[in-house]
Amino acid sequence: MRRCAGCGVPTLVGKELTWRENGVIVQTRDPDHRMIFYESENLDQLFRGIEEIIGVPIGHIVIESKRRETKEYVENLMPAPVRKVARYVGLKPMIRRLSVNGMAYGFGHVRLAQKRVHFRDDDYVTMLVSNPHSLYFLCGEILGAWEAIDGRECWVRYEEVAPNSYEVTTSVGSHPLELAERLQPPRYAYRPGKLELDKCRACGVPAAVASCRWDEALGTITDPSTGRRMAIFGPSGLEAVFEDLESELGETIPETIIEAQRRYTVRTLRREELEGGTEGIGKMLAVRGLGLLEDIRLGREGLDLALHNACVPLLLAGLFQGAYEVVVGKEGSRVTWEMSRDGYLEVHVSPA
Ligand SMILES: [Zn+2]
Repeated sequence: MRRCAGCGVPTLVGKELTWRENGVIVQTRDPDHRMIFYESENLDQLFRGIEEIIGVPIGHIVIESKRRETKEYVENLMPAPVRKVARYVGLKPMIRRLSVNGMAYGFGHVRLAQKRVHFRDDDYVTMLVSNPHSLYFLCGEILGAWEAIDGRECWVRYEEVAPNSYEVTTSVGSHPLELAERLQPPRYAYRPGKLELDKCRACGVPAAVASCRWDEALGTITDPSTGRRMAIFGPSGLEAVFEDLESELGETIPETIIEAQRRYTVRTLRREELEGGTEGIGKMLAVRGLGLLEDIRLGREGLDLALHNACVPLLLAGLFQGAYEVVVGKEGSRVTWEMSRDGYLEVHVSPA
């Protein structure tokens, strides 16, 4: 994989993503498409945490939600005639793209294992996926991309064949689950800002991102300062998953997501990471594309935080609740949050 001569990050990352001065990461070619650079162990841990709390599996909902989003995305990206051509000649380029993106974006190592594509009902494609950033996400992505190209309805199954390695097979057939029609996809408001990150002169990737280690063989990105794994993905897909979980499983889902994220944060966040004060925390959020910190205050009343251009508010509410508990060294608090239409998020955490 080609790397930037200046900072060593895969050139694809610097080319495809732009870190703006308003705490937002966008796709360079499609600035309406927002991205985040985020702790990815978080994802499956979060899904598992939700399953633990509510006591029912949610994988099928997450996969279906992600499938739908990915399919729409690929269909918008490639007009129908192009997709039709790709159906016959595009298998290899598509798989190559999945595997190159997998490495550059920290999704794990993805390669073709077996396939039979004769445009009959027994067609299938099996990918071998190692170290997925999120097994559910990757299954949904493979399925959605596949359906967009193939044009037929397909379904996916996975099987663990070695520790953290899975065979992911898409076959022709109907979806086991139909989700309710979705409301509007989130539209993110971008208020301008002036938060300058120290960036690579050659590719524009922030130094804090470049200090991470891209392991091509594993398809992982690791932040050496925290030891945590990172990945690049779109927040709107995650928000869609949250919405679909809520409409399938009920209105307690938002608080469950916050609680799962709080637990994860308390387990993994170290106190030293919060010692940079308002400036340090603002940069930490901006590097991840989570928004532009306006204010954060910690006092006897608890923690108050205000953020412009926010996304994934449920995650942020849980993250800051967990961070508060790490700082005060005691679990047990209450959190409330509110986000306006133009992306202004206020979070208040108070002692229990
Ligand atoms: Zn660079």
